[in-house]
Amino acid sequence: MFEILKPKVYINSVYNIDLRKLKKTKKIKGIIVDLDNTLVAWGQKEVSQKTIDWVKEAKRLGFKICIVSNTNSKRVAEFAKIFNIPYHSKYFKPFSIAFNNGLKILDTKKSETVVIGDQIFTDIWGGNRLKLLTILVVPIVKKDSIGTFLHRNLEKIFISFWLRRSIIKKEVGNWPK
Ligand SMILES: [Mg+2]
Repeated sequence: MFEILKPKVYINSVYNIDLRKLKKTKKIKGIIVDLDNTLVAWGQKEVSQKTIDWVKEAKRLGFKICIVSNTNSKRVAEFAKIFNIPYHSKYFKPFSIAFNNGLKILDTKKSETVVIGDQIFTDIWGGNRLKLLTILVVPIVKKDSIGTFLHRNLEKIFISFWLRRSIIKKEVGNWPK
């Protein structure tokens, strides 16, 4: 039950994703990444150099990477410019059209694409529906939009239930091992 909401991987942050191994052992070529609370703190205008370097490294390793975000287009466009990567923000996650547009931008197959995000009801649900590899990260900050408040409480219930029953585990250190 609720299989569609369950992330394939649950991890602290994007930095714990071993990009080399993701490419080599999981055969991933494309990254669809969320913006708020995945790459940058919600409501913040700045992004850390560490995150800029992470995106750079992904590109250097040959990944195609794009932001798919439900945040307003102007904000997404500004960050996409900083990262120098394409973005999609016209259609909302978890609707498949948002992810399909991401796939179109990347020009990768579903089987070689990963979705990385901090929300079960948008990033993970949508990614799972299209059978993409889904990685849930812990939100960068606890602050969030009002609309997300209810989701957050539900998410906590799901995550603690899965963890308690060992249905998912939180990856310690880097992943894939
Ligand atoms: Mg987010």
